[in-house]
Amino acid sequence: MKAFLRAVIVWGMGIMMTLVLAQAHDDDKKPYVLVIHGGAGTILKKNMTAEKELAYRTKLDEALRTGQAILEGGGTAVDAVVATINVMENSPLFNAGKGAVFNHRGENEMDASIMDGRDLNAGAVAGVRRVKNPINLAREVMTNSKHVMLSGEGAEEFADSRGVELVDPAYFRTKKRWNQLQKALERDQVFLDHDGDQDSGKPDTDKIADRGRDPEDPDQKFGTVGAAALDIHGNLAAGTSTGGMTNKRWNRIGDSPVIGAGTYADNNSCALSATGHGEYFLRAVVAHSVCALMEYKGLTLQQAADEIVMNKLVRMGGEGGIIAVDRAGNVTMTFNTEGMYRGYVKGQGEPVIQIYKEE
Ligand code: ASP
Repeated sequence: MKAFLRAVIVWGMGIMMTLVLAQAHDDDKKPYVLVIHGGAGTILKKNMTAEKELAYRTKLDEALRTGQAILEGGGTAVDAVVATINVMENSPLFNAGKGAVFNHRGENEMDASIMDGRDLNAGAVAGVRRVKNPINLAREVMTNSKHVMLSGEGAEEFADSRGVELVDPAYFRTKKRWNQLQKALERDQVFLDHDGDQDSGKPDTDKIADRGRDPEDPDQKFGTVGAAALDIHGNLAAGTSTGGMTNKRWNRIGDSPVIGAGTYADNNSCALSATGHGEYFLRAVVAHSVCALMEYKGLTLQQAADEIVMNKLVRMGGEGGIIAVDRAGNVTMTFNTEGMYRGYVKGQGEPVIQIYKEE
């Protein structure tokens, strides 16, 4: 009888263990989310050709699917953010990596940052001119240096010592960006990224000139790229990469490489990447402010994004937007401009890609 009871108890415990392990496995494989942007601005359908729109949608789709595959395979949010941004850095469509805008001296000078929401580790680089993928160097600063932010030649020296790919500065040059610089030089203005091949439309010249944009170009946009991810382990990460502003001088640095302004990630709140007029985003400390409103004030992700992007930035006159994901997998793509290249994917679902305001 005793032996029978023992057998029943052992059998019962076995079943319980199996149930606990199955539950633990389910918990391990939490739903993952990836959200991206390729810049915000006055992106109007009437100024877009079908070819150009398709080119953007195809590249955003490729970027999302690249990160999705990594997350599906159990990769980290940091891995997914870097690989996703690499796709956009390698495309001349965006103002990051190849196709970055030119500074006043006719050089491409790039900035990037990344943050891991698991432990608040972060890395950033500013003013690099030979690093093929600046986001890779930002990651290297985060994981293999004692610092958070490196700049200029020192950052490139560090890149070399860590085996991060360096290229001839000519790699980044594109004719479209060169033409934009010539326009900016002629007018002695600093432009936010835009597509110089458009010549229709009647923008409000004074207003746009005040904001540092090409007054004759209707397709004004900020072409910075960014990504934020929630992985199956429940960790968040975000990253941003940019060429900054056309005709920028004096080694100007915007918000993109500044942790708390252009990028932030904290498992307690959200992971976020910004795009817009950096001078305003720096002063509004956009990325950290959104996370802080969630953590300290208990706002939802959307409420926090609306407060900073639609209220605070609008009051200051700062144009742009953010993409973010919170620890529960909620996504926001909030912007106060006419459009933002953006998209997200949840789990094995199909990527959702949007460009214009009304979509
Ligand atoms: N935020 C970037 C900067 O000011 C520009 C952009 O988002 O395109 O450098």
